[in-house]
Amino acid sequence: MQSLLYASVIARHRRMAKYVFITGGVLSSVGKGIITSSVGKMLQTRGVKVTAIKVDPYVNVDAGTMNPYMHGEVYVTDDGGETDLDLGWYERFLDLNLNMNNNVTTGMVYKRVIEKERKGDYLGRCVQIVPHVTDEIKQRIRNVASHTGAEVVLTECGGTVGDIEGLPFLEAIRQMRLEEGYESTLYIHVALVPILDVTGEMKTKPLQHSVNELRRIGIQPDVIVARSKEIIDVEARRKIALFGTIPQNAVFCSFNVQSIYEVPLILDEQGMGSFILNRLDIKAQKPRWKEWKRFVNDVLNPRSEVKIALVGKYAGLADSYVSMNEALKHAAAACQTKVSSDFIEAEIFENHPEKLKTLNSYNGIFVPYGFGSRGAEGKVSAIQYARENNMPFLGICYGFQLAVVEFARNVCELEGANSTEIDATTPYPVIDLMPEQHKVEIKGASMRLGTHKIVVKGNTLAFSLYGSKEILERHRHRFEVNPEYRPTLEKKGLIFSGESVDGKRMEILELKAPCFFFASQFHGEFKSRPGRPDPEYFGFVKACLEKHLGRAIQKS
Ligand code: GLN
Repeated sequence: MQSLLYASVIARHRRMAKYVFITGGVLSSVGKGIITSSVGKMLQTRGVKVTAIKVDPYVNVDAGTMNPYMHGEVYVTDDGGETDLDLGWYERFLDLNLNMNNNVTTGMVYKRVIEKERKGDYLGRCVQIVPHVTDEIKQRIRNVASHTGAEVVLTECGGTVGDIEGLPFLEAIRQMRLEEGYESTLYIHVALVPILDVTGEMKTKPLQHSVNELRRIGIQPDVIVARSKEIIDVEARRKIALFGTIPQNAVFCSFNVQSIYEVPLILDEQGMGSFILNRLDIKAQKPRWKEWKRFVNDVLNPRSEVKIALVGKYAGLADSYVSMNEALKHAAAACQTKVSSDFIEAEIFENHPEKLKTLNSYNGIFVPYGFGSRGAEGKVSAIQYARENNMPFLGICYGFQLAVVEFARNVCELEGANSTEIDATTPYPVIDLMPEQHKVEIKGASMRLGTHKIVVKGNTLAFSLYGSKEILERHRHRFEVNPEYRPTLEKKGLIFSGESVDGKRMEILELKAPCFFFASQFHGEFKSRPGRPDPEYFGFVKACLEKHLGRAIQKS
């Protein structure tokens, strides 16, 4: 009784945020990130202020040191956080600018606890997972609530229920029910419901097991989302409710849809938005889906299709370039077209230069971010092909740097020009390590990261795209254009239409019309949103569409 009283006193003292926790079962990649974002969207569209946190049980302090080709892209926040790609989904769905605190990892939590222990902050006590590690986790979640002033904080727990490394996080969210109270906390469990090929039967047993696993830890879900190919039938719903010990109207289904952006709509149609609000006792407005539906409609009903070649490093994992793919989709929707991109392994052009001709069957060439020398020469060849054949070209970060290398070699005749990332002994280091990077020894969080201001030159393609002389864009790199070569490059016609405020860093390059040849040191994709495409992606897709149609189109 006393502890309940205490809980309600602290709850009243703090801003009265409510907490929704999303866990996953059966297997990973079940779409928790999209469901978390969709829950946020259903609340936000009713006027509720939301924010979202991803907790990642891996021991890395942040995602920055993980290979994007194996683990998915590293998402960069405004404040330079190198975070899990789910933050990208939260930002895109909720049109928020989150920061590094919205991603909590085991590495971060333990690092802090150990630092405190070394300082003597625990006053001689034995430092334990419960309560010290769990307290640190809860504090991080609550800090986000108080910094953002959000009414509802969504916390997605990475991994699958039952993973050893996820236990402290689940224990922390279990404790939050006790401390915040029933009406301020809600647990959503998302799990796969497979459908048998032969009989078409929907199997709920794996989901039942993962709910049991969750209960074993002490968490009884309030809502269950069945992730399945098709909408679950009455029998499956009945079983999930019965074995999950929840009413049938607390079972929802996230079935396969054509576009990920439909997910909040299909869940809301099933009543999930109002169910959550009722359960959390939040009074809200009627949902406003108009703009979102318009965007979804544009995604689903393109009037044409453009084909682009994405020339990069092996990306068997679709998630390696997720923000880029989504930025292309946002731009495509704004042009009422569809972008279909073929991934082309850059190395292929090194061994088979004759294959460069295949690029001709595309409407544009896109060279994305990247690291290291493998495939770099192939990318340079693809850029040369784009330039010489007047094909729309967009280069992002490494793509920007390699466009400079290509121009230096083939237009400025600086034979052997290169980036020192690829060739440390190049006679013409047109791309070089940034001066402040020379002393960097630690790999984690040491690149030039996050948002920096860029000055855009008037009367350029960049200015026509951004419509502003100052823009803010996100970065993640160690190398940059070597300013010593700027005059040589410019003399031969390369236009640096965007630069850092001090004029020392080249940020955007372009070539004179008629072709669309554009590249940036920054990553426009991180700021692209449904209904508000990023200007460089928009410009590129529009140019590809014009090439496809063979005529200019009006800016929509
Ligand atoms: N490898 C390059 C650098 O470190 C480009 C990085 C990137 O494409 N994000 O500068």
